[in-house]
Amino acid sequence: MTRIVTDADRFVPDALRGFALAHAEEVRLVDGGVVRAQPLAPGRTAVLIGGGSGHYPAFAGYVGQGMAAGAVCGNVFTSPSTGQALRVAEAADAGGGILFTFGQYAGDVLHFGEAQRRLRERGIDTRTVLITDDVASAPAGEEDRRRGIAGIVCVFHVAGAAAERGDGIDEVERLARRANERTRTHGVAFAGCTLPGADHPLFEVPEGSMSVGLGIHGEPGVRDEPLQDAAQLAQTLLGPLLAERPDGADRAVVLVNGLGTVKYEDLFALFGHVSDLLAQQGVAVVEPVCGELVTSLDMSGVSLTTMWLDDELEALWRAAAAAPAFRKGAPLPPSSTVAAEPVASEPRPAAPEPGPASDPGPPAPAVVPAESRVAAAVALRLFAAARDAIDAESGRLGDLDAIAGDGDHGVGMLRGIAAATAAADGAGDAAGIEAVLEAAADAWAETAGGTSGALWGAGLQALGASLGAAGSLGPAALAAAIRAARERVQSLGGAELGDKTMLDAIVPFEVAFADAVDAGHDVRDALAAGAVAARAAADATAALSPRLGRARPLAARSIGHPDPGAVSFTVVIDAVERRLGED
Ligand code: ADP
Ligand code: MG
Repeated sequence: MTRIVTDADRFVPDALRGFALAHAEEVRLVDGGVVRAQPLAPGRTAVLIGGGSGHYPAFAGYVGQGMAAGAVCGNVFTSPSTGQALRVAEAADAGGGILFTFGQYAGDVLHFGEAQRRLRERGIDTRTVLITDDVASAPAGEEDRRRGIAGIVCVFHVAGAAAERGDGIDEVERLARRANERTRTHGVAFAGCTLPGADHPLFEVPEGSMSVGLGIHGEPGVRDEPLQDAAQLAQTLLGPLLAERPDGADRAVVLVNGLGTVKYEDLFALFGHVSDLLAQQGVAVVEPVCGELVTSLDMSGVSLTTMWLDDELEALWRAAAAAPAFRKGAPLPPSSTVAAEPVASEPRPAAPEPGPASDPGPPAPAVVPAESRVAAAVALRLFAAARDAIDAESGRLGDLDAIAGDGDHGVGMLRGIAAATAAADGAGDAAGIEAVLEAAADAWAETAGGTSGALWGAGLQALGASLGAAGSLGPAALAAAIRAARERVQSLGGAELGDKTMLDAIVPFEVAFADAVDAGHDVRDALAAGAVAARAAADATAALSPRLGRARPLAARSIGHPDPGAVSFTVVIDAVERRLGED
């Protein structure tokens, strides 16, 4: 619940602006997030962290010496866009390479992954270490499928301290990976959180119960259990962490993390019991932290993290840090004796500006065939119709996503499609279909963030490229372009049919459209056939269990409800079909 009322759409930029003003000596606001006020010494590795907002102190509070060089800050509970990650990376880069490290979520992996690919293209050595500490989100043996929660702080400090002492990128990456391998978190929620501007929480925990295995984006826990007293809760939380204790590990960092509205006194009471239990197991606790480390807006909940130490991890955890929300050890010498301009080993090409600001470079009118310009004008009308339809349905889409995901699908789709429509409109009368779709695709991915934003952006881009390369724009060219778009969504997201994603609606749409074209129907009829197939397929996703994306850890809750991404796809297709019928 936001009690200090501002425009909900400005919640993130307003909070970040105030944060940067409050810590002006330590951090600097840049487009996409924050970086340290003092640039890194030339040649240093830049550790960059990030994710959605609503988790303070994560992520901006962890920018500082012995921690991150910069933080990429997305919208509330929504991964930042590729463009944001690129711009923060550009601002933080000191010529020693970039390590992206963040909690594993599909949208973040897609957007940071694309940023890494583009930075490498520019000759910047870029690596990624995904953090996967949440034991509730996948069983032992499938650690690489787990999501990241409060244990991210352990990895941030290990990587940040290694970079601070001058380790090269290979070593910083190795140590971050090792820290992640030895970090585990388990949490419980007592009450859900409410998105800024919303009037009800993303989930509710029944009176007298707690939800075990919480997420940090308003995802409920994996099961509800009766409330426990502090001693029992310590055992419930610690049990799964001890079960994965590495052989011979006899010391650990312990974090007791409040999710937003749990009192510090409660956290300390819990820590007392945890510390007794660890002593009974012969585990020494090293420099523990009790407090709000990774929150989930106003969620009531608590998580327990252990990082099992060896000598090298212990030395790094004990190292000094000076970030707005994480300080330890002796004050560090200022790192401001460095050149303001990072030294690059070789000149780099200028960064292309992605997003709505990017200029798709509409070709000269003479080379854009009239057919392509007509198609572009039709596309613009269809975008506007789809935007209005998503606007009308965004509440329902958000509610669907809140059942097992993070509740942002409605707002994300609306932001994306509104930006895409505006960008398509701005491409100009002379633009052809490829330029219009490319502008729309870039704007969508940049503005929406999240998994679906990246996938819609990529799909539209492929649709435009395929149409641009086609000789003529008949039904067959459209069928081929739809196939290209589906292939791109599938290769980027890695989903298969039956994983309970938007793909489960897209594939039947694609097949029905292509069959109708093969049978000699025109675009309108093919679209009508595709829409019927997509609707049926989206409804049928209710029976499926999600195997990918944010909803996967809560698969059971999702059964009986259709996939939000599949439903929003049909909302778009239905609107397009209706609008085309009016022409
Ligand atoms: P996020 O999951 O990042 O919060 P959204 O809520 O906007 O993003 O979108 C969720 C939808 O994205 C899901 O309902 C699903 O249809 C789709 N999705 C998630 N992961 C994938 C994937 N790997 N491939 C295809 N679609 C996916
Ligand atoms: Mg979502």
